[in-house]
Amino acid sequence: MSANLPILPGATLGILGGGQLGRMFTIAARTMGYRVMVLDPDPQSPAGQMADVHVQADYTDHGALKKMAEACAAVTTEFENVPAASLVELSRYTRVAPNAEAVSIVQDRSREKTWLRENGFTTAPFALIAHENELEAAALATGFPAILKVSRFGYDGKGQIRVNNRNELASAFAELEGVPCVLEGFVQMANEVSVVLARADSGECRSWPVGENRHTNGILDTTTVPASVSESIQENAQATATQIAAKLDYVGVMAVEFFVDSAGNLLVNEIAPRPHNSGHYTLDACVTDQFEQQVRALCGLPLGDTRLLSPVVMVNLLGDIWRQGPDWMVLLRHPGIKLHLYGKAEARPGRKMGHYNCLAESMDSAVELANITRKQLGIIPLSG
Ligand code: AMP
Repeated sequence: MSANLPILPGATLGILGGGQLGRMFTIAARTMGYRVMVLDPDPQSPAGQMADVHVQADYTDHGALKKMAEACAAVTTEFENVPAASLVELSRYTRVAPNAEAVSIVQDRSREKTWLRENGFTTAPFALIAHENELEAAALATGFPAILKVSRFGYDGKGQIRVNNRNELASAFAELEGVPCVLEGFVQMANEVSVVLARADSGECRSWPVGENRHTNGILDTTTVPASVSESIQENAQATATQIAAKLDYVGVMAVEFFVDSAGNLLVNEIAPRPHNSGHYTLDACVTDQFEQQVRALCGLPLGDTRLLSPVVMVNLLGDIWRQGPDWMVLLRHPGIKLHLYGKAEARPGRKMGHYNCLAESMDSAVELANITRKQLGIIPLSG
């Protein structure tokens, strides 16, 4: 349904999902004078704590969706596993961005990878596996080593198993309970980078500078900007992400994660239909951050300036370091560090509890600040 754009402060915006991304969207929207309604079944959701209204219900609850459709001038999502049918239902009554079709493609790894290939984007070699009898053909397509990944509901490296031969592949598929999977050839990685961008209804696109990402145990650990990869790789990554957004007819904030292999090839890994952890550096290091931009795109406002104001290292804070109770003064004593905590009551290993941005005049000083504080907090230092 088309809305009267732009939607101005004072209106109510809706968001499906109440995690940290929804929380930071809510803070940005409220700062700009909007009211926010969050839908999330969790009574203690990080975004629910910040919202004007928290509708505590399942994402498929028709009554809850109706309530949102009636109250909200526009609705977005922070969570890619939101049922596409709920977005379709909402879009009959109110503005929904991004569109349900784009979300449904990228929330299913098999569809996402197939869509990328059909649209001419380069990925790691892959094959789809829906049944045991497809294992052999998949192995021939990718070779070994390879990574078997579930098509749906995998995140932060969960639902992924590295396999070195046919026997391991068969047992990994059984371990994942025979659900539809993608088998991906293992990439000899030189680097991982991502592009976060926003696209408006007009087709205008603005991307932030490329982030260089390090993962530990499949979970994003740090994002460093400016990235150390070549200018041409950065330009290629931004152009590719922009083309993907256009082909998906995407409106809103979106991220594309890439692998840079040892030969310097840029491979698309995955697309996130929402702001992204690797874009958290924009909160403190850019003129406009990814959450304000999400509000702007959703409301049909002009997109904000994405310029980088300072070298930055973003460090994720996982629940692992909560065991000893983090000493927040380690971070708060530094004038160049910005701490963001998500208000999660329970800390678990691997759970994203917050992050901090280290800002400094030079990249070397930002990395040094990140390394010193990581060590003091008990997080392994960044290798060179
Ligand atoms: P994903 O959930 O697909 O983003 O995977 C999580 C992380 O696992 C990535 O950021 C990489 O560090 C690693 N990884 C995933 N797929 C591959 C691959 N095909 N080859 C090498 N490393 C991979």
